[in-house]
Amino acid sequence: MSRVLFEGENQITNGYRKNVHEAVDLVKKWYQQDAIIAHSSGTVVMVQTGMSHNPGSTGNASYGNFIKIKHDDGYYTLYAHLKEVYVKKDERVTEGQKIGYMGDTGNAYGVHLHFEVRNTYDVRIDPEPYLDANLPNEERKITYQAYDNIKKYWLPNVVVGDGGYAGNFGNPIGGIYTDKYKMRVHDMKKGYWLPWVENRNDYAGNLGNDIDGVQIYNATYRVHLKNGSWLPWVNKVDDTNAGYAGIYGKAIDAIEIK
Ligand SMILES: [Zn+2]
Repeated sequence: MSRVLFEGENQITNGYRKNVHEAVDLVKKWYQQDAIIAHSSGTVVMVQTGMSHNPGSTGNASYGNFIKIKHDDGYYTLYAHLKEVYVKKDERVTEGQKIGYMGDTGNAYGVHLHFEVRNTYDVRIDPEPYLDANLPNEERKITYQAYDNIKKYWLPNVVVGDGGYAGNFGNPIGGIYTDKYKMRVHDMKKGYWLPWVENRNDYAGNLGNDIDGVQIYNATYRVHLKNGSWLPWVNKVDDTNAGYAGIYGKAIDAIEIK
């Protein structure tokens, strides 16, 4: 996954070359279009709209419609050739927020995202190492939350690794949401695993149906059983069915990710 495309794995169509193309050009795999999301939290410092497809244009016009964000660590990201822009100058954006849609405005040879990363001196650097990683000095907090099947609402966000957990002891959970992890849950009522979710806008679960198993890709986690206790930590690192947190037939009422 990349941290700038809304729903897709990115495909690089043109890489970084110093003094030639100090950016990466992306589409969604394979050659699909996608909405654009903010790489990290920050403030929109520049927006250009109203531009059309204009091969051969230079300077800022060559970017077409674009957005530039200054992040909390002082680095910048820039998103160019957009078809649509959803944010305004001086607007505060959060990581993963939809800010625009891919297009071919400006000097573009086809629909793609031209993505730049600039350091604290506003100098372009190779963006590729940051496509799915924090910017330098960035402190990123990953959160998760659980749906309470008794109270019928989503419980507050919990930060991964802070020692807390998501859940209300005694109340089974029917859904789990994280803003990073690929995961799936076992629906106790239906008796099978629900599909994997890896889109930060999807949750795992059938709200209202209790969960009795959890698998999270590349995370260390544990679950608490209703009328029971915490089960051992699970560290699942691959796509196989091996390893999950839970006991079939016993509802889970809390989860902790560290
Ligand atoms: Zn480009």
